[in-house]
Amino acid sequence: MKVMKFGGTSVGKPERMLQVAELVTAGDEPVIVVLSALSGTTNALVTIGENIAKGDRTVAKQEIDKLQTHYQDFISKLVKKEPSIEKAKAIVAEHFEFLNIILKISFSEALSKDILAQGELLSTKLFSVYLEEQGIDHELLPALEFMSIDSYDEPQIGSIKIRLSQLLRKHKAKKLFVTQGYICRNARGEVDNLKRGGSDYTASLIAAAISASVCEIWTDIDGMHNNDPRIVKKTVPVEQLSFEEAAELAYFGAKILHPASIWPAQTYKVPVKLLNTMQPEAKGTTISEISESVGVKAVAAKDNITAIRIKSSRMLLAYGFLRKIFEVFEKYRTPIDMITTSEVAVSLTIDHTTHLKDILKELEPFGTIEVDKDQVIISVVGNEISQTKDIIKRLFGSIVNIPVRMVSYGGSPHNISLLVSAKNKTKILQQLNKGMFGLD
Ligand code: ASP
Ligand code: MG
Repeated sequence: MKVMKFGGTSVGKPERMLQVAELVTAGDEPVIVVLSALSGTTNALVTIGENIAKGDRTVAKQEIDKLQTHYQDFISKLVKKEPSIEKAKAIVAEHFEFLNIILKISFSEALSKDILAQGELLSTKLFSVYLEEQGIDHELLPALEFMSIDSYDEPQIGSIKIRLSQLLRKHKAKKLFVTQGYICRNARGEVDNLKRGGSDYTASLIAAAISASVCEIWTDIDGMHNNDPRIVKKTVPVEQLSFEEAAELAYFGAKILHPASIWPAQTYKVPVKLLNTMQPEAKGTTISEISESVGVKAVAAKDNITAIRIKSSRMLLAYGFLRKIFEVFEKYRTPIDMITTSEVAVSLTIDHTTHLKDILKELEPFGTIEVDKDQVIISVVGNEISQTKDIIKRLFGSIVNIPVRMVSYGGSPHNISLLVSAKNKTKILQQLNKGMFGLD
């Protein structure tokens, strides 16, 4: 059995949804299809929730009506025959009635999650009606019956596996299953979600739970590219990546795959394929345990980074100094991305600046503090990159006239990270494309 996940843009237009139906029925292997909400829907639901939360019900109502019109339009082009039209209309009516009821009752955190869940519920139900109209046998699996997170918001593959296999056993004869990405139940049994972009994570968790032959993530680009196609002119898809390399790239800015979706596939040894709905025959990127040739595969950039330097002669020959500094970040639940040290100073980077003021205040007694905002982490990723001959020479040889604020080398054998000012991001990505990949 395999898993095929389609993102918002792959189901965002009626004609794209038809294409998805073709793709999921193309092979002989049984499939679990995971769908995101139609593109733009989750953002609209976030806006609706925020407006209800701040008591702006008129704006919320306008947003609900706008979204409803969008869905009415969508189904008028999706289904053509009478019983399906009625069914699709009833589904849209039911979910928008729910939103209109929420509008009238007092708001809570739990209700905001209910609002967010409507997108995936709508997309999967409408897809199911379309499949039915086409006479394609399938079963809709409610994610809320098997996908769950514990009190630390962590999914538990063990229990997901038990519940999902029970559901699948009920429908032994079926070959096609459709379920919602992103949504789940939390430890209190309420509707919750796997955070924005979480449909990839759903796909990977399901693939792990059923030991799928492959987890296919279908988007609108032909796999992970060696560089950011929005910034440099010439990029090429990377055909093969190890899980370690993919994890570095996904975390450091390559927007193609949700970083959390790596570990379930990696732990349960399910290969992940990144494929393009617009170009289904393209090879895309395969992520698996296999580490191919040594060398640089890709660069990625992570924006909105803040660097903090703590300088103190008290650090000289002292022990426990770093622990005390890290404790400050732990206290404010702020993850640290990069660190570099010298004997009298330590520099580190963060991308969550919500508690920056408090953090800086608590760091003050440790020494002189300097803060550089608007930085980017440039991450150069490849298999055993640190073993690659002359890598440092080539890397720094590629960079012309750009000051590098920090370098992190040796933390992982697959990654070298540089910190530069955001204003030099485009320039450095272009220079690296030329210097490391020979692409202009
Ligand atoms: N619909 C959700 C979002 O937009 C989940 C996803 O698309 O992966 O974040
Ligand atoms: Mg996504």
